Amino acid sequence: MAITKRQATELAKQTFEYAPAPESIDHIKIEPRYGLFIGGKMIPPHSKKRFPTINPATEQKLSEVVEADEVDVDRAVKAAGKAFDSWSRMAAARRARYLFRISRILQERARELAVVETMDGGKPIKESRDVDIPLAAAHFFYYAGWADKLEWAFPNRKPRPLGVAGQVIPWNFPLLMLAWKIAPALAAGNTVVLKPAETTPLSALLFADICMQAELPPGVVNILTGGGKTGSLVVMHPLVKKVAFTGSTEVGKLIQRSLAGTGKRLTLELGGKAANIVFDDAPLDQAVEGIVNGIYFNQGHVCCAGSRLLVQESIAEPLLEKLKIRLGTLRLGDQLDKNTDIGAINSKTQLEKIESLVESGIEEGADIFQPECKLPERGYWFPPTLFTNVSQSYRIAREEIFGPVLSVLTFRTPAEAVEKANNTPYGLSAGVWTDKGSRILWMAERMRAGVVWANTFNRFDPTSPFGGYKESGFGREGGRHGLLPYLELV
Ligand code: NAP
Ligand code: MG
Repeated sequence: MAITKRQATELAKQTFEYAPAPESIDHIKIEPRYGLFIGGKMIPPHSKKRFPTINPATEQKLSEVVEADEVDVDRAVKAAGKAFDSWSRMAAARRARYLFRISRILQERARELAVVETMDGGKPIKESRDVDIPLAAAHFFYYAGWADKLEWAFPNRKPRPLGVAGQVIPWNFPLLMLAWKIAPALAAGNTVVLKPAETTPLSALLFADICMQAELPPGVVNILTGGGKTGSLVVMHPLVKKVAFTGSTEVGKLIQRSLAGTGKRLTLELGGKAANIVFDDAPLDQAVEGIVNGIYFNQGHVCCAGSRLLVQESIAEPLLEKLKIRLGTLRLGDQLDKNTDIGAINSKTQLEKIESLVESGIEEGADIFQPECKLPERGYWFPPTLFTNVSQSYRIAREEIFGPVLSVLTFRTPAEAVEKANNTPYGLSAGVWTDKGSRILWMAERMRAGVVWANTFNRFDPTSPFGGYKESGFGREGGRHGLLPYLELV
């Protein structure tokens, strides 16, 4: 017997209490201090400066890492330069074998990596376990397959590697961003120097251990910890031939400016303010899940997050009602608990940025909704938040918040939806929810976004290129396209 609408609403409102299900941490080993991974070994740094990396859920120090200085960067780049001679000339099938090996070790050590990633960055264990780590392994597996087929990837051209790649990554998907950068670079025959973000260096340091376990030739991968200064030393080093950066638009512009005239190749993966567009013929329950996944996944620390919900006016009311009920069922708390949906905000700085943008939304006149939600006393937390009555001019509709905050706008016609979706300096991703295939195609053609998801959101696959338009950057990562930035075609 079917249940009534009222019963369904009542049911949806119920939250079921789960017993705590924390992932154990006794199987992982985090060193109290780390060196730098240069020339195939962890070596003591030249720099005397160190800084702590903490667990943002507890504010406890996990380890201390080096702030690599100019001498360290120079050593790492030279080690990568030396390794390039033999790595680039090695039979491609042999190079592939190393990548396959790394992929397999990532899978074998997946649990350890997931726990470390979650402790260091604050993301829920179910996300690092089911998304970050498997996708990182899949990236190495996928690009391993290309290593000996580059001439088929670019027919009638002769692909040649570029040399040393300097790579700088952010803190929201540390190991996954590392994989997006290192896998295509190595498959194409380049060597790399990579700098992870200041707040999340641990999975990259574990990856250094994996390189040693895979017996990767010394110097092919070098990992330098540090802050923005270290990052800029890496990208500016004269022997670095290619720079790959993922991070904020602000720093991306800075890098682009400083590389002008150097002849270095550059790809930038920057910020976003994606529209997630729901039409009146969309399956609403499915759309609600897609909206939640679009903005509350990884606490909204996602460059392609669906942070602007554009909903067709005629269904705004029922959709928002369902969405608010659903927000009430999200579990926030200990990110190591397997039932947690929303973990800790990555850092104090990021929390302050979210708080100030949310404050601006209230001041400018939007209506805020937050479900009842108890925040832990220690650590950095922000409840899932939704703004209605948002005007296009508000900061919360224009600026990237990079937190669990959704701004809801409405539209009447498809043309209006396109206009609003494109009314942003960014252009990384978009989502369309509708029953009509023709409308999906019509929308996808008109939206200036590198990725358009249809009836889904935040779906990734190593075979599919990812990247932006406008201030979201240029160049593609993933797929055959992802090889191009690492090759010269002669
Ligand atoms: P960020 O401040 O730009 O930092 C990114 C990386 O660059 C970090 O490793 C950072 O080091 C380093 N860095 C800072 N200043 C630098 C400089 N002058 N020269 C070279 N490197 C420098 O960005 P974030 O706040 O960490 O990350 C969030 C941003 O990344 C968001 O805007 C998000 O949209 C974007 N993002 C984009 C993608 C994508 O694929 N398009 C993916 C993920 C994130 P520190 O850690 O020490 O600051
Ligand atoms: Mg940390």
